[in-house]
Amino acid sequence: MFKNRFFVYLFLGTAVACHPAHQVTTTPKIATTPPVTIFQPYGPAWAALWQQQAAEYKALCLQAYQLAAWRVDQDLLQSHSKPLAIVTDIDETILDNSPNTVHQALQGKGFNEKDWEEWTAKATADTVPGALTFFKYAAAKGIDIFYISNRSEAERSGTLQNLQRWNFPQATGDHLVLRGTASSKEGRREAVASTHEIILLVGDNLGDFSAAFENQLPDARTHAVQNAAADFGKRFIILPNVMYGDWEPSLYHYKRGLSILQKDAILRSSLRNY
Ligand SMILES: [Mg+2]
Repeated sequence: MFKNRFFVYLFLGTAVACHPAHQVTTTPKIATTPPVTIFQPYGPAWAALWQQQAAEYKALCLQAYQLAAWRVDQDLLQSHSKPLAIVTDIDETILDNSPNTVHQALQGKGFNEKDWEEWTAKATADTVPGALTFFKYAAAKGIDIFYISNRSEAERSGTLQNLQRWNFPQATGDHLVLRGTASSKEGRREAVASTHEIILLVGDNLGDFSAAFENQLPDARTHAVQNAAADFGKRFIILPNVMYGDWEPSLYHYKRGLSILQKDAILRSSLRNY
């Protein structure tokens, strides 16, 4: 009895499975392969990992600030007609924002203002290796420090709090020059230069040094760096930043509103293979 019932079920099951209508509903859909991206949105996490964990990153920063101190010593040997100033950027130059890059990447998001401002309001960014020692040294030599950053006015309080947390010298409202309406730092540098002799510019992004580097396509940026080669390590002290910077939007030809997939395709096509 049990055997007979088994064969009936087997027959019915096979009949149902072979019925054309049934096949339509049970045929597995062709699996759509999710788009595989290389760089976006997770790529910056790799760069943040390097910034957080590679001793080589720390060594590069120390090297940059050691060179900066040597430059200060050289400048102090000369006579100057105006008070001396050092102009420095903040992000990835004296403060380490890699936790924000990690936070965004692990959520599958690219850079966005909302996460960024949440992060800067915390005022908990660590210092870039060597930065604090150098700026304290320069300030002790009587040099004025100007913090020129493209952070917004909304971030002023968190930024001051973060700088003061580490006792960065002259971290007061009048020495903190934020973005205002222009993202170019040229006008803000000129304002400092009207009262001071700027002996050193410190930054991680070419726009921290000169307008000659701004809004240029990748080849032109490289060309501009070659033209200014003598300034690097002399008047310009550059810190490493693999996570972000103008080098990336330059690859997009500064097009705004690109999707993650579009960005990734451009970055991929920018790779040199053999
Ligand atoms: Mg920066």
